[in-house]
Amino acid sequence: MNIVFITMDGARADRIIKGKNYKKIISQSAFFPKVITYAPFTISAMHAVFSGVYGFKNGVNSYWSSNNFKKEIYKTLPKFLKDTGYVTFGDSINRLVLPSDGFDELKIHDELNDNLTERHKLLLEKMEKLKQSGKKFFLYLHYSNIHTGIMQEVLKKHDNFSEEYFSNKEKNSHFYDKLFNNADEYLGEIINHFKNLGLDEDTLLVIISDHGISIGEKFGERAYGVFCYDTTLISTALFCHPRISPITVKNQVRSIDILPTILELLSISHDKNYKEIDGISLMPLINGKEDKRIAFSQSGNPLNSGKPPKKPNVYAVRTDEWKYIKNIHNNTEELYFLKDDPNEEINLINIEKEKSDEMRYQMNKILNS
Ligand SMILES: [Zn+2]
Repeated sequence: MNIVFITMDGARADRIIKGKNYKKIISQSAFFPKVITYAPFTISAMHAVFSGVYGFKNGVNSYWSSNNFKKEIYKTLPKFLKDTGYVTFGDSINRLVLPSDGFDELKIHDELNDNLTERHKLLLEKMEKLKQSGKKFFLYLHYSNIHTGIMQEVLKKHDNFSEEYFSNKEKNSHFYDKLFNNADEYLGEIINHFKNLGLDEDTLLVIISDHGISIGEKFGERAYGVFCYDTTLISTALFCHPRISPITVKNQVRSIDILPTILELLSISHDKNYKEIDGISLMPLINGKEDKRIAFSQSGNPLNSGKPPKKPNVYAVRTDEWKYIKNIHNNTEELYFLKDDPNEEINLINIEKEKSDEMRYQMNKILNS
């Protein structure tokens, strides 16, 4: 089984479920609309996905810690595949967002000037040739142009406290929609090409988003990477293969569960030279079983500094119904009942004492694991 793995950087879950091309592929896939990312920014989000463990274990828990990835302790997805005889190939936005360990070749595109659709179609053709020559391949594609637009029009023009930005949510939303529609078009073209090349017969297609992007929902976060609210914490994943029956799983899962799912699909077992991971395969859920999982996340609020901190200073633990947030930077806590309060506006920390204790306990349990 070959693998094409696409990251749609910054694609919001609420847009994904309505995207024209997204909807088509979702209807043919096992789809997880609520994948809680470890971190609401690409570097830590992707290292957690590729290693199956949270950043406080794998070393990459901030914007600054890409080089601290513990590759001797945690085995990356491409490394697993390379060791099993795959040719591993990737096209990423920069050198920092992914652990390069295990890639035969990891190319970097120019997000401002390259046509990603054309570039990635050529890579699919290259993989098809490898397949013809009898080789197994893993291809990683990073769609970075939502980020590109946000960088140019939001990050460079506004700070996290810009009155102008936060008072124009509708305008921000329209701008985001424009970026998302381009992403959806990209996806449509890539999937068509994938099918036209006949790759769909024996290739596992994995499409994820790494985190959401705020359009001004919470004052203090113009885009992402500040807080641990759902607008940026909810990402998505889908798995498409002839052997997988389409299903949409309502319960939340964690981004660290993606790696063990792929390994199980490929019948690759844990490598005893490396530490056990925290992620758990999603195969039981794909096969229709109910399963409730607790998710842990960390972010780095730059506060007034304009620069992300060296260490995470916002921690969150989330169940399907509740979220507990600990703001390390000012020692405050928040508790939300997501079922009734999806926008996380009513802090129940001093009202729901018992639930607060329970969530605090769950967070400490994960941090001490
Ligand atoms: Zn990202």
